[in-house]
Amino acid sequence: MTEQEPIYRGKAKSVFRSDNPDELIVKFRDDITAFDGAKKDELARKGAYNARVSAYLFRYLEENGVSTHFVRMEDETTMIVRPLKMIPVEVIVRNIAAGSLVRNYPFEEGAPLNPPVIVLDYKDDARHDPMINDEIIVALGFMTTGEIAEVKKAALKINDLLKEKIDKIGLDLVDFKLEFGRHGDEILLGDEISMDSMRLWDKKSHASMDKDVYRFDKGDVMATYAEVVRRLTGE
Ligand code: 5GP
Repeated sequence: MTEQEPIYRGKAKSVFRSDNPDELIVKFRDDITAFDGAKKDELARKGAYNARVSAYLFRYLEENGVSTHFVRMEDETTMIVRPLKMIPVEVIVRNIAAGSLVRNYPFEEGAPLNPPVIVLDYKDDARHDPMINDEIIVALGFMTTGEIAEVKKAALKINDLLKEKIDKIGLDLVDFKLEFGRHGDEILLGDEISMDSMRLWDKKSHASMDKDVYRFDKGDVMATYAEVVRRLTGE
């Protein structure tokens, strides 16, 4: 396996080509950012913690019939994935009102959302990831109406599966963000599922157990991430 300059460098992960044209190498870095990159730090082991949780959840979803880009882990921060042509739409599923939903709409923080609410954002830091709708997605050629329906259905199935898992470790799955991409004719779940992309609240204390600890200086970020890894994977 050869490694050179990344073909893509995101805020927390770098993507490299591999010798196999149907595989890419994703390196989870220790960089952590918030507010579209305005707040930035490097926290030791953060990449390993997020990679561990992502790999664990991708495997669990695959076992339950969800198609993802996950192939295997190479080492604790290196994930081998299928190459995807990413669709620049963040698919957010919300079970409890929090974050931007509470900032922008008259929901009370902590209010249960039943059925869950799906929010679609256009992934573009410079524009601060504005909310997008089905018509704009179709007009921009990102997805067809049928593909949007397929992605929303997958997101709700993923929500059911993740909620079941997260419930068992004493956490509420408040909300999370997914990204999908094209692999040939298929649309696969890509990116990561980690403490950076989920909002998790402890069922007893209601304490944040996710990137909100970093965003809003709520405590020891890496101790929190380590605790989620321990509860979820037993390590
Ligand atoms: P909100 O819209 O409340 O900011 O975020 C809703 C959920 O999606 C949260 O769990 C949040 O972590 C995740 N999310 C939204 N936008 C992003 C993003 O640009 N990057 C990451 N990693 N997660 C996001």
